[in-house]
Amino acid sequence: MRLLLLAPPGAGKGTQGTRLAAWSGAEHIAAGDVLRAEAAAGNDLAREIAAYQSRGDLVPDQIVVDALTPVIIEAAARGGFILDGFPRNLPQAVAAADLAVRLGFTLHAAIYLQAPEAVLTQRLLGRARQGGRSDDTIDVIRHRLQVYAETTGPLVPYYAERGILVTVNANQPPDAVTAEIKNRLSALSVPGAEEANKVNKDRR
Ligand code: ADP
Repeated sequence: MRLLLLAPPGAGKGTQGTRLAAWSGAEHIAAGDVLRAEAAAGNDLAREIAAYQSRGDLVPDQIVVDALTPVIIEAAARGGFILDGFPRNLPQAVAAADLAVRLGFTLHAAIYLQAPEAVLTQRLLGRARQGGRSDDTIDVIRHRLQVYAETTGPLVPYYAERGILVTVNANQPPDAVTAEIKNRLSALSVPGAEEANKVNKDRR
């Protein structure tokens, strides 16, 4: 199974990505986590990545593509991937499409987790109060939401035009969001979805 999760900060990409990976056997690849790991390396590139992340700005495309390409290639050769947080702008979407052509695979769905901005802000502030990440401060949260609206939002029509957009209501409890995604993927006959739903049902 090869999926993208398209979602503003706070919509639950990370939570859903982990769950969908466990359910489908595909690998969860969180772009933010891959970049945070690179940012911890202590070299010049690491410091550059950390600076972008701490401001809530997108890390430059070439750095992101270089970091993620080998991870995606490896996952694609195994059970597929759930890509969370990549692509995040049109040039990255084009790079992802080029990679797919080069490797001879297609994406089965781009899942868009939709929630009102006020809900997203409340969730991110809640996470900040519980310790959260260093980029969970009110100013950086506002900036991340703005970057999303301007830069990542346009990927919603991009994938709709390609016929693979699946819009899901993310303003409901995590279990309900997961159930909605699984049902939608089964209904679309995404490879592996029906089998995974059946296995999980049999286990109950
Ligand atoms: P959130 O979606 O809550 O902002 P992420 O962990 O997905 O959390 O992203 C955190 C930060 O990592 C972003 O603000 C950005 O700096 C960087 N980042 C993640 N994915 C990308 C990407 N595809 N392109 C550029 N920067 C990215």
